[in-house]
Order: sequence, then C-alpha cells, then structure tokens
Amino acid sequence: MTRINENYLKLKASYLFSDIAKRVTAFQEANPEKSIIKLGIGDVTEPLPAACREAFHNAIDEMGTREGFHGYGPEQGYEFLRKAIALNDFQARGADIDPDEIFVSDGAKCDSGNFQEIFADDIKIAIPDPVYPVYVDTNVMAGRTGANIDDRYEGFVYLEATPENGYIPAIPEEKVDLIYLCFPNNPTGATATKEQLKMWVDYAKDCDALILFDAAYVAFIRDESLPRSIYEIEGAKEVAIEFRSFSKNAGFTGTRCAYTVVPKDLKAVDESGTEHSVHALWNRRHCTKFNGVSYPVQKAAEAIYSQEGKKEIRSLTDFYLENAKVVRSAVEALGFSCVGGDNSPYIWVNANRPSWDFFDVLLNEAGVVTTPGAGFGRCGENHIRISAFNSRSNIDEAMKRINHALTAKA
Ligand code: PLP
Repeated sequence: MTRINENYLKLKASYLFSDIAKRVTAFQEANPEKSIIKLGIGDVTEPLPAACREAFHNAIDEMGTREGFHGYGPEQGYEFLRKAIALNDFQARGADIDPDEIFVSDGAKCDSGNFQEIFADDIKIAIPDPVYPVYVDTNVMAGRTGANIDDRYEGFVYLEATPENGYIPAIPEEKVDLIYLCFPNNPTGATATKEQLKMWVDYAKDCDALILFDAAYVAFIRDESLPRSIYEIEGAKEVAIEFRSFSKNAGFTGTRCAYTVVPKDLKAVDESGTEHSVHALWNRRHCTKFNGVSYPVQKAAEAIYSQEGKKEIRSLTDFYLENAKVVRSAVEALGFSCVGGDNSPYIWVNANRPSWDFFDVLLNEAGVVTTPGAGFGRCGENHIRISAFNSRSNIDEAMKRINHALTAKA
C-alpha cells in the first residue's frame, strides 16, 4: 500500500474547536430555552462594504462581455491591485515596497502555512506560544520537529508570551534561522512597538535569520506610535516577509483575498553557502502551485483602497474596536487583567484558573462561548480569548450576562 507522510502522525489532534462544539451542544441540550452568544471564533460578522460589492458586481458584468472577459490572470496578482497595495499600505507610510514585491493570494492562512516550503528541513524555527496554530502544524507536517511532549514539539524554540513579559516574547538566547511573529497578535491581541520590532530585526540580521511577520490584524491599530508594517523598521527589507489579509478589515473571510510581501533584497543560502533570492524562490513556488485570485475578487479588493472603501473599512474596524472596548472594560471591571482589545479585535483575559474551567463557567452560567487559551499553546493556560467579532447587541448582552454570573457567584 502507498505509504503516508508520517509527520502527519505527530500532529497533535486539534480538539480545541470540536471540544468547544461538544460542550456547547451538551449545554444547549440540557438548557434548550437558553440562548448562546458565541464570542469564540475569529470570523467577522458584518457585511461586505458597498464599495467592494459594487466593484465585484461590475467586474462580473465585465466578465460577461467578450472584451471584458478575463481568463487566467497573472499568478502574482493583477497590476492594478499590487500597485494600490504598494502605494497605500507601504509607500504612504514611508516603507519602500514595490508592486512587484507583492504576491496576491487567496489567504494569509495559506501563505503563512506554505512559506516554510522554500526552506531546508533542518533549520531552527522560533515559534510564539501562544500561537496561531498554522505556523506550528505546517512545520510539523514538513518534518521539522520531533514528537509532541507536554504540548511542545521537540525541535522548536518557543517564544513565550506571558503576563510577566506583557505578552511580548523576548529575543531567544540561541541563534535561530526562521522566526514567526504576529502583531497585533492572535490570540493575545498584544501589539509590538517600533523599538520591540527593531530588536527583532536587529536580532535577525545578527544571526542571518528571516522573520515571517503576520500582520493580518493591522487594520485594528489605532495608536499612532505603533508600526503598521515591519518595513517601517530600518533594515527589515533584508530580513522580513510580511503577510496581510483582507479578511478582517474588509470582511473577506468568505470572499478570500490576501497578499504576501517578499522584498527583492531577501537572501537565503544553499548548503554550499551560495546566496539565493527568496523572492525568486517564492515566485517559483507561487507560480507552480497557485493559479491566481479571480478577477472580480481582486477588483473588489482594489475598491478597499478607494476613498469610499477606506471610509467603510475604517468604520467597520471602528465598530469591532468599540465592541472590544465594551468587552475589555466589562472584564476589567470584574477584576481581571487583560491585554488586547485596544488595537486588536481580541481580548486576552488572565483568568487566574485553568482556561477550560473558566470557559465552562462562562458557558454554563452566562451562556457565552469564548476560546480557552490552552488551545493555543502551553502559555495560553489560565487565559481565555474573547473575540469582538459580533453584533453590538450580542456583545452588550454577553457582558451583562458575564457580569451577572460572576458577581452573583462572588
Ligand atoms: N493569520 C492570523 C494570525 C489569523 O488569525 C488568521 C485568521 O484567523 C489568518 C492569518 C488567516 O487569514 P486569511 O483569512 O487571509 O486566510
């Protein structure tokens, strides 16, 4: 029989969302009259902006004409979108990124998961804990780790984000080759300052490492002093790849469009020490395994950068941030310390007790579903993540119920 890739057997079964679903179903069966409010998942709830819908419709109509029909497009994305991205997301902030350093794709999940493919099997990888699980599992699948023991894979260097370090991991003592960073962070909602990112860029330069920087939540940053892109840091173009997504700013979770920035200055070496362009390698990989995002979707994404689109994106993200503020102040008023929610849609609550216990209290006493931090890594224990992606009425009702459940218990 055909043999499997046994690295898949090392993957820790992801029980997180199925365990949550099981507990929610059990609660609902025992309490059919009670409504449940879900503040657990990272999917958005508000509809697509009008500017995007209009561009989407127009592009579909164009596709219905002989002159406006588009077949296979450039794998890297249409020039109109790559130019709009480079201009608005980077050049406008003083980051010197060219349109041809941008690769449009169907998701930051795929890109952040696939990027590791172009590197050697035996490189040393630094992974945050807690973490967006895609970075971990894709490297396990590729055979870069040993077994999972006590929630840790052998072979990774873990970057611990804890209450003690304000949930910003410290630079590792040892040399690594590839570093995953995510700011604003999922799941903690923590953000990194320019000084903190500079330390990472300097460290990467010192040890000839590369940084995979996931900025999927950048549209939620409101603090003017915080960097939006790693390329605002001097020297980052020589050491960093950046992932962005239209999922959370423009509601594209179901529409699918994202991009990855791979500067032409980035270099990596082969076994003999000869340098190779990371841009050329990723271009080869992308063109071989990906066939482009559809024309109407790229037109809809381009509309995000129109005057109307920018306004709508701002009000969408403002709306979720207002939800986040409601959550954070309600939870803080109950005496919990939190991070996130100010420049991020996630609030990371220090529950001071096992995360599944707190999850159960909130489900059973308040009918509110959150995400237990333990599902994101060992350092997530004793925390829960609350997502601000919901309607205002659900957020208000959920906080009222949590307040009632926890104060009634006290
Ligand atoms: N990166 C992070 C940190 C995320 O939390 C998510 C989705 O939740 C993604 C990437 C996925 O983005 P996309 O919808 O573009 O695949």
